[in-house]
Amino acid sequence: MADYYEILGVSRDATEAEIKKSYRALARKYHPDAGATDSERFKEIGLAYSVLSDPEQRSRYDMFGESGIGAQPGGFGGFERGAFADIFDVFFGGPSREEYRRPRRGRDLAYELKITLKQAAEGITEEIEVPLEAPCPDCGGTGIERGLSADICPECGGKGTKMSSRTTVFGSFSSTTTCPRCQGSGEINTHPCPTCHGRGMRREVEKVEVKVPAGVDDGDRMRLAGKGEAGTRDGKRGDLYVIVSIKPDAVFTRKRTDLYEMVSIDMVQAALGMGIMVPTLDGEANLEIPSGTQPGAVLRLRHKGMPKLHSRVKGDLYVQVEVNVPTDLSGEEKKLLQEFARLRGEKASNGGVIGRILHKA
Ligand SMILES: [Zn+2]
Ligand SMILES: [Zn+2]
Repeated sequence: MADYYEILGVSRDATEAEIKKSYRALARKYHPDAGATDSERFKEIGLAYSVLSDPEQRSRYDMFGESGIGAQPGGFGGFERGAFADIFDVFFGGPSREEYRRPRRGRDLAYELKITLKQAAEGITEEIEVPLEAPCPDCGGTGIERGLSADICPECGGKGTKMSSRTTVFGSFSSTTTCPRCQGSGEINTHPCPTCHGRGMRREVEKVEVKVPAGVDDGDRMRLAGKGEAGTRDGKRGDLYVIVSIKPDAVFTRKRTDLYEMVSIDMVQAALGMGIMVPTLDGEANLEIPSGTQPGAVLRLRHKGMPKLHSRVKGDLYVQVEVNVPTDLSGEEKKLLQEFARLRGEKASNGGVIGRILHKA
């Protein structure tokens, strides 16, 4: 695949507006309704725009090229980030006769894979069950009873198309539309296959192994080339997009590769300082609470966060400290605290003006 900037004909420092403008002009030029037959080019433009119009995907593309967004073909390991951008699908009308007669690629499928934060940190291999349409084994996907053939469509005389014009956001286009009787094939199936009743396809569930790399984030998607639905007329299978959904974690909050958690310590621990055990993604770890730690202080455990995708680098774990002030002091404890306050020259109870004002408030 060529460079996305080249595809859209913009410079590498083009603004979002320039990218959008160029995309619109190209989409209009290569729009199938405008008579363009190069639908691959149109899809390429759509893909380039879906990446460059998204600031995060664009910066990944700038840094890592296609491997950053994983648009390269090649089965497992293809990796993409960000929301689906079905930009080109929006513009496609019915297939033209040429398109119909050409092999048609099968539809892409999307599958949401729910995993835990720990699984996201470690990476997992999952076998998923994907419901899809597969070619009927009896008629080989033609929908016609074995040994028989179709008749010429009387509505279009076998052409498969009719002329019409339509108006879109890009202007008015005169175009050929698909024959409603034969759906563009130019043929009528008078001998439907008894197994699939002429559909040529049947519902199946396919088991697919998905390798989720360590470090995936919520909304990341992986492309499994050729694992989508079957094509027609010997067209290639579509792709399967596995979209990662990470379940909310009871302990950790994630921001990219860093993790955040709250721990609560006692007043005396905060004042004196001590080592405590805190939860991390791989078991408990010792966290040194320095003496004089204030409520709300944030301490860091280096490299205890999430791994960076396709890298050995790990983020950090930030621990926010909450300090418990006791609410159920016994008489003896009160005395000790008052003694403590006296030693420090602090007002302990019913003392100064400030104390009284605070009590009233
Ligand atoms: Zn027809
Ligand atoms: Zn069949």
